[in-house]
Amino acid sequence: MRVTLLGTGDTTGTPTVGCDCATCERARDRGVERSRFSVHVENERTGDCLLIDASPDFRHQFAETGADLPDAAVITHIHFDHLDGLGNFYRLLDDLPVHAASEVDPFTGESVADSVRERYDYLDVVDVFGQEPLTTFSTCGLELTLVPVEHPPMACYGLVVEDPETGAKLSLSGDTSYDIPQASRDALRDPDLLLADAIVPASLAPKHPMGGSDVVDGVPMTFGTKHMTREGALRLSEDLDADETRLVHLAHYYPVNEAFAEPLAVDGEVYEL
Ligand SMILES: [Zn+2]
Ligand SMILES: [Zn+2]
Ligand SMILES: [Zn+2]
Repeated sequence: MRVTLLGTGDTTGTPTVGCDCATCERARDRGVERSRFSVHVENERTGDCLLIDASPDFRHQFAETGADLPDAAVITHIHFDHLDGLGNFYRLLDDLPVHAASEVDPFTGESVADSVRERYDYLDVVDVFGQEPLTTFSTCGLELTLVPVEHPPMACYGLVVEDPETGAKLSLSGDTSYDIPQASRDALRDPDLLLADAIVPASLAPKHPMGGSDVVDGVPMTFGTKHMTREGALRLSEDLDADETRLVHLAHYYPVNEAFAEPLAVDGEVYEL
C-alpha cells in the first residue's frame, strides 16, 4: 500500500492566501505547502487507487504529485475542504464510486452519503454508495471501515484502510476532538501509519473562543470542540500504539519555530506500508 499525503492543511491551507504571518512566509520561502486535506492510497498489488476526501485543491495536488486518478473515493464528512473537490471529476472519469456513511446525522437530518448524492446530483460521474459505520466494506482490493468520531455539530468519520493480503494498516482520525468513542479507537488501533488531526498546538487553546477541552494533566487535548491539539493527536497515537504517526489538517497558526518540526506533515510525503 502506497500512501501519498496530497493535502495536509486545514480549511485555509498554508500558506494562507493574503496572510503574511511568519509561518506562511516560511512556507513560501521553503516552497512547501499544506493544501486542503486529501490522501491518495495505491494498492500496488492491483494497481487500484483510492482517494480519501476530495480536496478543492485536487487539480494542483494531482498535477504536483503525478498521482494516478482514483478508481474510488471515500468522503469523511461534508465540510467544504473534504468534499468540494468532487466537482473536478467532470470529464476526467466516466464513473467514480464514492463511499460515505449511511447513518442519518441528526444535525443535517440526512446521512453523509445522502448529502453527497444531493450535492452532486448534476454530475453523472459521481456514484454514491452508503456504508454502515464500523462495518467493513471492500473497494480497490482493500478493506475499509468508517468509524464515528467527534466533530460537532455534524457527523464525521475516521477511516481504517487495510490490505487483506499484506496486513498493512492505515488509520485516519478524521476531523475530530480527542473524545473519540471507544469502539472507534478499537478499530483504529495498531496501525502501521496513523494520520491524526492536529490543527494547532495546545498552547493556542486560550485563543479559541471556547478555549480547550478534554484536558489531561492541565493540557487541552482538544482545540475548542472540533479538532485535536498537537498534544491530543500525539496522545491518541500512543493510545493506538501507531508504528508511525504524521500530524495533518494543520493550521498556519502554529508558531513558525514549531510549524515544520516532526512529526508535522507537509504535502507530497509518501509512505509504503
Ligand atoms: Zn499565515
Ligand atoms: Zn471538518
Ligand atoms: Zn477539515
